[in-house]
Amino acid sequence: MSNCKYCGKNVGLLKKTHSECVELYNKGISEIRKIPLKYDSNIIPDGTLELAAGTGKKYYISEHESKTILLDEFKEVIKHLLSDELLSEKNEQIILSINKLFPEIIDNEKRLKIVQESIIRELLNGNIPSNRIRLEGGMPFELMKDETVVYLFKSSSLAECKDSAVRPLGFQPSPLNKGIYMERLHFFHIFDGFNRIIKAGDLYITNRNIYLYDGNNKGLKDRFSYDDINFLVPYDDWLVISIGFYAHAFKVDNSWFAFNLVNNLMRMWLPEKHSTPSDSLATAEYLIEKIKNDFSINEKEKLYAAHNKMQNNTIGITSSENNLENQLLKHKAPALHFSRLLDHLDAIDDFNICEKIFSIVETNNELQKDYNFLFFYYINKINIYYKNRDAVNGAFDKAMESCINMIKATKPLSCSNSKKNISENPSHPGYKQLAIIYHKQGKYDEVIKLCEQAKSEWWKGDWDKRIEAAKIKLEKGK
Ligand SMILES: [Zn+2]
Repeated sequence: MSNCKYCGKNVGLLKKTHSECVELYNKGISEIRKIPLKYDSNIIPDGTLELAAGTGKKYYISEHESKTILLDEFKEVIKHLLSDELLSEKNEQIILSINKLFPEIIDNEKRLKIVQESIIRELLNGNIPSNRIRLEGGMPFELMKDETVVYLFKSSSLAECKDSAVRPLGFQPSPLNKGIYMERLHFFHIFDGFNRIIKAGDLYITNRNIYLYDGNNKGLKDRFSYDDINFLVPYDDWLVISIGFYAHAFKVDNSWFAFNLVNNLMRMWLPEKHSTPSDSLATAEYLIEKIKNDFSINEKEKLYAAHNKMQNNTIGITSSENNLENQLLKHKAPALHFSRLLDHLDAIDDFNICEKIFSIVETNNELQKDYNFLFFYYINKINIYYKNRDAVNGAFDKAMESCINMIKATKPLSCSNSKKNISENPSHPGYKQLAIIYHKQGKYDEVIKLCEQAKSEWWKGDWDKRIEAAKIKLEKGK
C-alpha cells in the first residue's frame, strides 16, 4: 500500500498515483505553459510568477516547479523574438520585461545580440545611439567636436593589404539581410595579405571615424575617417574597409553587425558619398536599355549565365537576387558590376559579346570620366584582346591600344593617391603588358621611357629590372 504522490491519499496495491491526479497534474503543466500566450505581443506584467504559482497550486504543482515550467516556456519565447530579422523596439521591451522576472534568462551572448540589433534599429530610424554602451573609465583619448562613440569592439586587431588593388564591391546589401557579403573572386587573395596583423587594440566606432586604440602603448591611436573610406565589406569575423586602392581589415566579433553599424554611420555622416547617387541610377538605366537592344536572345542568355556564375561567387546572395537588371539598379557602381561579366564570359568563344560590352561602356561619356571604374575595366579589356591576339585579326593592336588608353585614363588616379601619401599605387597591367610588348618588339628605348613613366606615377612593378634588361639589349645592339 502506498500514497499518491500528488494528492497524498491511499492508491491501493501496485499503483503509485491516481490516474485522475496524473491527468490534473498534466493539465496544470499545460495551463502554466499557456501563460506567455496570454500576453502575446505585450509586456509581461510583474505578477506573472505569482500567477504561475497560483495556477500550479490548483494542480498539485509546487511553486518551484511552476517557475521552472514558466522559465522554459519564456526561453522559447525569447528564442523566437530574437530570430526575427531585426529586433523591434516592442520585442526588445517584451524581452526586458521577461528579464525582470527571470534575471538569469539572458546570457551574455543574448545581451550582446539585443544591444547590437537595437543599435542597428536606431540607426535605421535615423538616430545615433549614444547610450547603448558603457565606457568603463571614460574615454581614453579626445574626440572631435560633436563626435560620439557608438560602439566599442574590445581586443580587436588591424591587418592591412597593400599588395594589390581592391575592386570596390559597390553592391549594397539590404541592412536586414544577415548574409555575409563578400565577392570571393576579387577579395580572397587579399586575405593572404591580411595574415599580417600589424596592430592590436580596441576599436572605437564613432559617428565620424573608426579608431584603433592601443591602450598599452602610451595610447597610440590610428584614425580612419568616413571621409576617406570608399566602401566596406564584411568577411567572416573581419570588417574590411577600402581607402584609396588599399584595404584594411579589423577583427570584429560579428561582421554582420559591424558592417551595418559602420555602413549606416557613414551614410548618415556623408549621405551624398555613401548612398546610391543619382548618376549611378542613370548609368544603370543606360546599361539596361543597352542590354535590351544590343544583344540577341542567345547573347542575353550568355550574359545572364555569366551573371549567375558571378553571383554564385558571392557569398550570402540568394538566387532570387540574381536578376542582372535588378542588381544594376541597386548597385552603387553599376558599370563595374556590368563589366565584371567579362570575368565570367569566355574570352575566345564569347568574343563578340565582350566586344559589345566594350562598345556600350565606351560610348557613354560619363563612364569615360570614372577613373576608378576604368582602372578595372581596362584590365579585362587588355586580357581579352591579348588572349585573342593570334585568333582575331587586329586583336593585338587593340590590346596595345587598350594599354595606352589605360595609362591615359588612370593618370589622374595615380596623382591623387600620391598627393594623399597613400604609399605606392597597385600594379598596373597597362604599363606592364605594354612594356612586355615593346620588349618583344625590340623597342628598348620605348621600354625605358615607359617604365620611367610608370615609376614616376608610383605604380608598383619591377620597373628597374625591366629598364636594366632593356639597357643590356641596347648595349648588345650597338
Ligand atoms: Zn491522487
